[in-house]
Amino acid sequence: MLEKMEILHVEKVIEEFETMTKDTENVQRETLKKILEENGSAEYLQNLGLNGRTDPQSFKACVPVVTHQDLDPYIQRIVDGASSPILTGKPITTISLSSGTTQGRPKFVPFNDELMETTLQIFRTSYAFRNREFPVKNGKALQFIYSSKQSRTKGGLFAGTATTNVFRNSQFKKAMKAMQSQCCSPDEVIFGPDFRQSLYCHLLCGLIFREEIQLVSSTFAHSIVHAFRTLEQVWEELCVDIREGILTSRITFPSVRSAMAKLLKPNPELADLIRRKISGLSNWYGLIPELFPNVKYIYGIMTGSMEHYLKKLRHYAGDVPLISADYGSSEGWIGANINPNVPTESTTYAVLPNIGYFEFIPLKENVEEQVHDRGDANILSMEPKPVSLTEVKIGEEYEVIVTSFAGLYRYRLGDVVKVMGFHNSTPELKFICRRNLMLTVNIDKNTEKDLQQAVEEAAKLIAEEKQEVIDFSSHVDMWTDPGHYVIFWEISGEVSDEVLKECCNFLDRSFVDAGYVSSRKVNAIGPLELRILRRGTFQKVLDHYLGLGAAVSQFKTPRCVGPTNYKVLQILCDNVVKTYFSTAF
Ligand code: AMP
Repeated sequence: MLEKMEILHVEKVIEEFETMTKDTENVQRETLKKILEENGSAEYLQNLGLNGRTDPQSFKACVPVVTHQDLDPYIQRIVDGASSPILTGKPITTISLSSGTTQGRPKFVPFNDELMETTLQIFRTSYAFRNREFPVKNGKALQFIYSSKQSRTKGGLFAGTATTNVFRNSQFKKAMKAMQSQCCSPDEVIFGPDFRQSLYCHLLCGLIFREEIQLVSSTFAHSIVHAFRTLEQVWEELCVDIREGILTSRITFPSVRSAMAKLLKPNPELADLIRRKISGLSNWYGLIPELFPNVKYIYGIMTGSMEHYLKKLRHYAGDVPLISADYGSSEGWIGANINPNVPTESTTYAVLPNIGYFEFIPLKENVEEQVHDRGDANILSMEPKPVSLTEVKIGEEYEVIVTSFAGLYRYRLGDVVKVMGFHNSTPELKFICRRNLMLTVNIDKNTEKDLQQAVEEAAKLIAEEKQEVIDFSSHVDMWTDPGHYVIFWEISGEVSDEVLKECCNFLDRSFVDAGYVSSRKVNAIGPLELRILRRGTFQKVLDHYLGLGAAVSQFKTPRCVGPTNYKVLQILCDNVVKTYFSTAF
């Protein structure tokens, strides 16, 4: 009876979503009103002269569009323990650390109960739509989730990554249970102090509960691929543990050991079965359904910088569907994937109009204006003219501005999205790229997306040799005259010099931006450089971020490493084994 009551009523969730998105404009107006009423006493809003007004026009007239840098002094005072209402009416008790892979160091953003509630609302919404197409039964989820350390700030607030704050919230577990997506690993594994040990135990739990696993998931696709690459290395050790019912001595934390001891019993039949299944695979193709025969889908964010991992994930997944998770950030959620059966690369996110107040800076207009007026590469310095959620146009690209329940007002998220259509009256957004991740030497502009496409195309040359690009990054080297693009590749095995030279030329030719091509032709940008990295280099980059307090769950390989991100640049440069310069121009 209790079990039944806890299951989410999916049709009701869908109905609420449909009703709300048929009235997007009003819901946005009401949401803004609620945010401003709840937080009207905050110093930040008090100083802007709203005088109790909560309508969108007054809001836009009084409140400036800001970046994280503008709000940093306010957030810092909260972090340091100021007791007065600064950004929100109710005091902030928890701080999220964004992954910081873009800037090179984590940023602090406020987290509160309202943000937690919107997180769960978005999870429930996409689950409801997903469950219609891909119903899961009462079983378990193999979730590669990890909680980073939750520390205390100088002012006594809890600080952890946003995912940590979510996983540690008591509502999370309840919600996962209601969505029949309960993690198969015990809490001690999720909250274990060492992510490698946690990963090993997640894999072990997955194998122990293999028949019950309904879905395999993680926040970002990177962690799923990372987990199965690890399984390739440790599967024999896992089989020994299962056969003998004794956990390997490499798991050293007593809490994790005792939690695992409760699950692990000698099971030679299971160990033999896993050995047989794995031995029967060809190059690990279809590993996931072979090990987890009842898995319905694989779930995690798969768009944007995660697209690179899809090829490998598809290989492991065989014919199991891949479904991208929702779109959001440490600052707040934006949209849910309500069309789970479209091809992963075409995933769109329908904005939930009651989880925040959303505005959009039209990019085409601003970029053209800026190029015309100033030829300035710093597009973030442009005066933005944002439009509202219901004013966006199909086919246009925008930068997202968020006003949240957690103290961010007209905050530039820095993401570029494209409007692909509308669900009722709310837009469906495709994630395009981070706006400030741009390769530029002079008049050229290449985005994260351009880089991703160039790498994808060039990688086809090494795929012919049965090798793959495990991960990649880039950098603009301005120490040379003229400056030039540097692309870093970590590849799976040996590839001949001829092929890599060809890859280098191919990369150079793949950047078709007019500014780049014309500059290359007159040597105003030097030949593109492809640097091949030692195996394990990106693991070192990940370790570096973990050392800064980032969580594996939220990790995104930095696709473009700026000159001030010394540490990461140094890791990459110290591990170069071969270098090629393009002769394409
Ligand atoms: P974080 O800084 O760790 O909070 O990460 C948030 C960022 O991750 C967003 O601003 C996006 O750039 C990226 N992101 C989040 N969700 C998605 C998604 N569904 N597709 C692509 N990128 C995403």
